[in-house]
Formats: sequence, structure tokens, C-alpha cells
Amino acid sequence: MTEPAGGVAPGRREELAASLAVVRSRIAGALRAAGREDEPTLVVVTKYFPASDVDLLADLGVTDVGENRDQEASAKALEITVRDRMRLHFIGQLQSNKAGSVARYADVVQSLDRPKVVHALARGAQAAGRVLDVTVQVSLDAVGGRGGVAVGEALDLADLVAGQDALRLRGVMAVAPLGADPRPAFARLRAVADEVRAAHPGATWMSAGMSGDLEAALAEGATHLRVGSAILGSRPPHR
Ligand SMILES: *Cc1c(COP(=O)(O)O)cnc(C)c1O
Repeated sequence: MTEPAGGVAPGRREELAASLAVVRSRIAGALRAAGREDEPTLVVVTKYFPASDVDLLADLGVTDVGENRDQEASAKALEITVRDRMRLHFIGQLQSNKAGSVARYADVVQSLDRPKVVHALARGAQAAGRVLDVTVQVSLDAVGGRGGVAVGEALDLADLVAGQDALRLRGVMAVAPLGADPRPAFARLRAVADEVRAAHPGATWMSAGMSGDLEAALAEGATHLRVGSAILGSRPPHR
């Protein structure tokens, strides 16, 4: 067992173990309901939570964590003691001036949503001598605003990604629209995922489903879930 960095609140490990067990059983139930026998990847979203939690999660069998802000993620990547057995996903809106930094520590970047960011990340990865797994973020909102390329433009962006030597196109990602039934939105994402997959056979991922809607995402074929608050607890207010 790894000794977590820094002070860890007593009982935190047990707390994380319990909530992780609940989420894992929700996932198992949703897979059963969907008649699926494959195993989706659980990306535990650790934004706003300390590196010591990431260390504890590794001990509990978690292999993938997600972060959404460059400054916090870059610091945490250095602080965790389990870096060699944790895949780090960048899932937040990416500014092209941060792409060089993200390319140095992220293993996966899920939030590529415009050509400028694709080019910047490809340059950053090349400079770092790395090849990154990436997904194209698709907007499922009727009105834009929360990031993501329009459904009708996703394939073009995927084609652009696939042409970059330093990026490996893995599929698509989306967040369900606010205040709407997630299931039909994830069905639209599934259609985009199929279209991208048909053109790029290696792009098998569909990253969808968070604490509140993972069942709907799994019913529509999600291969990657991004779950934060259901495992770590409610986040401190936005800083
Ligand atoms: C924060 C975040 C999540 C996790 O959300 P929860 O509701 O806490 O599970 C998933 N995806 C993205 C893009 C996020 O920013």
C-alpha cells in the first residue's frame, strides 16, 4: 500500500471506498439492464480534491482520473505518488495557450472542440515528445456555450485530429444538456460516435455519463464515464 502524500483525514479511505462501491454497483446494474458484458472505463473526476485523494483512489483500484483546470491539474500530477499507475484525463475547456502545458502531463485530452486547439495540442505534444489519446467534444446543447463542436461538424474535426502525428483519435465526448432528459441527448451522441467510428476504426470511445446520468449514458453505449461528486462528495464552491 502506498503512503498518501500529506495529511489525510481519518476515515477518508473508508468514505471513498463506500461511495466507489455504490457507483460500481450502479454501473453493474446499468450494464445488466442494457445487456452489456463489456467493462466501461470509470474516470474519477478529482477536480478541487487533493492529491492525497488520488493516491487513495489508486489503492482502491481506480486507474483513471479526470481534471478540468490546467493550473490545478499540473500541480496535482507532480504531487500524486501513484503517477505511474494513473491515467490522467484532461476534461475541461482547453485554451490554446494552455495546450502546451496540458500536453506535458495529460495522458488523455477529452475536450478538443475547435481546430485552433487541435493544432496547439498537437504542437505541444510533439514538443514534449509524446503522443496523446484524445476525443472530440461534441455539444449536445440546443444553444452553444458549454463547449463542444456542433454535431454536424464533429466528423470534420475528427478528421483533422486523425491527421496529427502526435494525437491519437479515440472517439467522442459530451456533457448532457442542462435541464433536459439526458437519454435522447446521449442517443444523438451515439449517432455521432458511430459516424466517427465508421471513418476511423480506432475511435471506439464514447465518453458520457456523470454522477447524475451515468445510467442513461451506459444505456446509449458509453465506454467511458466521468464521475466526480458521487465518489468524492460535493465540491467546494467554485473558486
Ligand atoms: C466535473 C465534471 C464531471 C463530473 O461531474 P459530477 O457531476 O461531479 O460527476 C464530468 N465531466 C466534466 C466535463 C466535468 O467538468
